[in-house]
Amino acid sequence: MRPAVDIEVDDGTGVWTTDGLPMVYIPRHFMLGIHDSVERALGRERYRDVLTESGAGSAYFWCKQQAAARGLDGVAVFEHYLARLSTRGWGQFTLEDAAFARGTATIRLVNSIYVLGRSAEAEHPVCYMFEGFIVGGLTYLAEDKGLGFSSITCREVQCQALGDAACRFEASLNP
Ligand SMILES: [Zn+2]
Repeated sequence: MRPAVDIEVDDGTGVWTTDGLPMVYIPRHFMLGIHDSVERALGRERYRDVLTESGAGSAYFWCKQQAAARGLDGVAVFEHYLARLSTRGWGQFTLEDAAFARGTATIRLVNSIYVLGRSAEAEHPVCYMFEGFIVGGLTYLAEDKGLGFSSITCREVQCQALGDAACRFEASLNP
């Protein structure tokens, strides 16, 4: 099957765009090689904090831009975000439990790049890059829906790299 995302290539500059945003197309091993090197250099907890902050910022920007371009509300744009991550090859994301008004959401993921691209056995969940993505998407959703919150947190609580049937992320919108 062919990719489900449209890619435009600028005649003059060669820049790729999807949904009006410049994109890059890189080998998975390159992406994971950088990821593992930075994790070793910073330590996993510090790297996770850095990734969460930058990933959340990028996801929030993307959701805000897409909501305006497509006329989507916060919930629809979050679902659109998960669908786009899936069609862009990061893994297959599903919104499993969406009790936003109660302040919780659960996201299921299978075939994560961090699981498929791993040669060594994992001792902890390995897809924490996506925690920040989910935080950013939910931050936009919570603002759009007027849900009061002081912070949003997300943790990968199951991972296919540990033998679980799926990766699972639990997010909380903290009052
Ligand atoms: Zn995982």
